[in-house]
Amino acid sequence: MDPNLQLDASRGDVVKAIRQLAENLGRTPSSMEMDASGEFSTAVAQRLFGSWNRALRAAGFEPRMRRNISEPILLGEIDRVVEKLGYVPSSNEFEKHSRFSLGPYWRNFGNWEDSVEAAGHEPRRSIETTKPSNLYYGPNWPRQRSRALERDNHCCQTPGCDFTTQSHLERFGCDLSVHHIVPIRAYVDEEGVLDYKQANTLDNLVTVCQSHHRLWEQISPLRLDLRPK
Ligand SMILES: [Zn+2]
Repeated sequence: MDPNLQLDASRGDVVKAIRQLAENLGRTPSSMEMDASGEFSTAVAQRLFGSWNRALRAAGFEPRMRRNISEPILLGEIDRVVEKLGYVPSSNEFEKHSRFSLGPYWRNFGNWEDSVEAAGHEPRRSIETTKPSNLYYGPNWPRQRSRALERDNHCCQTPGCDFTTQSHLERFGCDLSVHHIVPIRAYVDEEGVLDYKQANTLDNLVTVCQSHHRLWEQISPLRLDLRPK
């Protein structure tokens, strides 16, 4: 690569190079991939934009890798994706919906199954052996979930917290979660069949924000709000 060309590079050139690389790779490029096969080095992007992530954003991409994400945040993301999908996803599926890549999970927990267990969910392998085609949270989950959100005015129900769908989206990049007060596993019988109607009653559901979801998980089956039952 000609170093003079690099000095002449404009922001527009770098944006174009990032988009080209993304097209070749079929995904958001990492800084290492940029250095290996991009038209410009990451250093050029850093010089022109201040950081690699800012250059990525200027090219219209959301940086996925964040360093030193704390364990509660990583586990909270698993909660969020499980809750959103209504079942425990495979690692591939998780990556499609997660704001984080699998890298930090492997570093912190060893593998995907152990990450899922650390978050308090049952890894998919055992669910698949019992009920292959069943949605983990049951077929009524999407409807009950939106009914709970509506009842709670799309607002975290933790006392003193005023996250709404809109402010939560701005802060965390995702919607509020709907938490099971009595955990879903309490409704699974010996044969592995979930009584989803009981598990997903509105009384058992509460809208929570990302910051408070793990707290609710920790005190489960108690509740943090004072809503009369
Ligand atoms: Zn909250």
